[in-house]
Amino acid sequence: MALGNPVDLSVTIEERLLRERKAVVSRMQSMAEGALDLEIDIDGVPPSSYNRDEALNVMLSSRLAEIDGALERLAAGNYGTCSSCSGTIPPRRLEALPFATLCVSCQSVADKRVKRYA
Ligand SMILES: [Zn+2]
Repeated sequence: MALGNPVDLSVTIEERLLRERKAVVSRMQSMAEGALDLEIDIDGVPPSSYNRDEALNVMLSSRLAEIDGALERLAAGNYGTCSSCSGTIPPRRLEALPFATLCVSCQSVADKRVKRYA
């Protein structure tokens, strides 16, 4: 038995990423169909719901980019490496956040930076 070797982990991660990707894509598709409805029946829809859909659409697009980036890193063999300090991202973090590009300490620095400019 080769339980716990890195190959097993990456196969699981890839499956999870592909599942997540499918969910995001189908969500975006159903939103695109919703947007068509909105054009036809614009009077009944308050503008705030359109803005919320826009925000969600932006969020889904960036999530899709994150998933694609993680799949590319898996294929390139540098998955699980911090893009900032080149340190190893702990497998437990990758299980919780399969498309993480930063280790915990670089992420906390990045989060502080985002808050400062938000
Ligand atoms: Zn790092």
